[in-house]
Amino acid sequence: MAVEHERKAALAAAQAAEALSDEVVELAVELIRRPSEIRPPSGNEGEAQRFLAGRLGELGYDKVDVFLPTDVPGIEQHPGWWPGQDFTGRPNVVAVRKGRGGGRSLILNGHMDVVPAGKPERWTYPPFEGVVKEGRLYGRGACDMKGGLAMAVMAAEAVRRAGVQLAGDLILESVVSEETGVYDGTLACCARGYRADGAVVVEPTQLEICPGLKGNHVYRMVVPGKATHNCLWWAGASAFDHAIYLKEGLRRFQEVRTEETRSHPLYADPRRFAVPALVDDIWSIQAGDPNFFAVPDEAVMYFMVEMLPGESREGVMRRFEEFVAEWASRHPFLKDHPVRLESPPLRPIFPVAVEESDPVFTVLRDTLADLRPGQPPVRGFESACDAMTLMLWGDTPSLIYGPGNLANAHEIDEFVSLDELRQGVRELAAFIVRFCGVAE
Ligand SMILES: [Zn+2]
Repeated sequence: MAVEHERKAALAAAQAAEALSDEVVELAVELIRRPSEIRPPSGNEGEAQRFLAGRLGELGYDKVDVFLPTDVPGIEQHPGWWPGQDFTGRPNVVAVRKGRGGGRSLILNGHMDVVPAGKPERWTYPPFEGVVKEGRLYGRGACDMKGGLAMAVMAAEAVRRAGVQLAGDLILESVVSEETGVYDGTLACCARGYRADGAVVVEPTQLEICPGLKGNHVYRMVVPGKATHNCLWWAGASAFDHAIYLKEGLRRFQEVRTEETRSHPLYADPRRFAVPALVDDIWSIQAGDPNFFAVPDEAVMYFMVEMLPGESREGVMRRFEEFVAEWASRHPFLKDHPVRLESPPLRPIFPVAVEESDPVFTVLRDTLADLRPGQPPVRGFESACDAMTLMLWGDTPSLIYGPGNLANAHEIDEFVSLDELRQGVRELAAFIVRFCGVAE
């Protein structure tokens, strides 16, 4: 009976969501029009966050908590705190709607910061205007993730407008400082006591369910060489050539990794994950000096080695480092001139996933299956995100589900599809009801 009652309430919330199909777009536009670019070590999320706090204040929450991450007592001693940021004028916003008791509590989490838009003249539509065109909303953050934030706010609002009294608490978090891998915004929410029986992080997944994410370690590899006048190239030993040899090593180790991770349940689809766990992904290389005619005596490369949920981060790193040592030992120059593997100062990213039997996963899967034709796709998330923060430091099983395509995030002409945005409001509204339960 209770289940039937809940399904009806979920349907009512999904119907109420239909009536918000303009409002969700309007809210996303309002958020895009308040640029909240992150500029390490700072960011200008303040205006957008204050605007959202004001809007949430009109929507009948029991509490709207606006606080700087650094306001949380003892936060800088927290083992998860990543130092070096300036949080002046950059508050988190957390809105709480208390349940009547007896249900599961739920966190909806999104970040307000966006990556810088770059030169506006490169955009077809101005990055901070929020232009709607042919079924898409364009602008910086449309997909990552002001669209998702607007979806979360309107899904919660649909539940209220449907007159559904939730049994469990609903907690809506809009955080600062996510984009550069800092995660201190959500960490501060966890440390302030915001924990729940489940969380949905509304990053762009094209409304597919992502119950887990990859871990990684970023390496700075310093490759030695021997300088000499470039006209006597053969008398030197080019660090650039050595870097090419090492890149081939990365590719071989990646082959080993692909072999062992190809059947991972979350990363098995080769159309989406040509490589399940990256190794050969060098995004920066420097060798030699353009001002001198010399064979480069040093090359420096940056790349990341990834691990999948269920794997040990340290174990994969150890094996990789042993592989590099062995690979270098077979090179005539490198065998006597060690390659250095350094770790730049970045927060370590751990692979995490929720249990297959966890209600946050099963209830979302079942809710979506009821509202769409066919089974909803389930896969791993491509990147790191705050689901890790919530899992590691907030004891909250967290999955990722939101509108937009990550491939389109951080890009010129970033957009989100209006259909996806609206479908997300309906589905998430129904999920909130079924996860939190309905008060008797
Ligand atoms: Zn994001």
